[in-house]
Amino acid sequence: MRQPLVIANWKMNGDSDTNRALLTALMGFLEAESAGGSDGPGGFGGSDCVVCPPYPYLDSVRQLIASSGIELGAQDCSHSESGAYTGEVAASMLADCGCGWVILGHSERRQYHGESDVLVAAKMSAAARAGLVPILCVGETREQREAGNEAKVVTAQLRGALADVAELDDIVVAYEPVWAIGTGLTATPELAQDMHKTIRAALAEIDEQGAKATRLLYGGSVKADNAAELFAQSDIDGALVGGASLDAEAFAAIVKAAQGRN
Ligand code: PEP
Repeated sequence: MRQPLVIANWKMNGDSDTNRALLTALMGFLEAESAGGSDGPGGFGGSDCVVCPPYPYLDSVRQLIASSGIELGAQDCSHSESGAYTGEVAASMLADCGCGWVILGHSERRQYHGESDVLVAAKMSAAARAGLVPILCVGETREQREAGNEAKVVTAQLRGALADVAELDDIVVAYEPVWAIGTGLTATPELAQDMHKTIRAALAEIDEQGAKATRLLYGGSVKADNAAELFAQSDIDGALVGGASLDAEAFAAIVKAAQGRN
């Protein structure tokens, strides 16, 4: 049984005041929803919830969410352990700051920072060494889909990023079609399920049992009103949420929709 998982990617948004207000409201909504529910420790009705703020706010967010059951993640990490890498942040530093998760290979990193599958693979190894759960993002562009190459592109991204991985032990894969990120265009549930099935099959080539246990998230304009139909698909185990994660009520509704997957 794969536990549903909903992850907030705040991207480069927020400040101390708005983060506090957002999290206070979010924790209020989540508590109200889970009151009298079947929560285990650290879960919301049996689903996991992670927030990924920008680096400077990791510690203050860690303090704000302490004991709430919400977990802490980062939006990227370095491929290196330490040394002369100005501006980079090591995976071990993130772990030291209380992170348990890290987003890797996000399409905005690939697009604006030229991240290759080789670099993403090195970051996957760095995250694993630090004990972080990597959230590996893959997804095709609109042009690649229009050319009918979506499965080929996503499979190549997976093989490249997982080149050094023999066992799928606690990794998360997020299918994020680039044409759906921040555009308001969501993949239909059927289209998303089709790609998730392709991804699980590609993972099974690495580790058959591990592929069955690996959580696959959908990302791309997930909102309160389209989450439930996405989560109803057999290979969609939750969501990576950008824009809607900045709205406490909308994000809490997505977490609640994931609980319904149980
Ligand atoms: C994302 O950036 O990971 C994302 C899915 O963004 P949005 O929800 O805004 O499309």
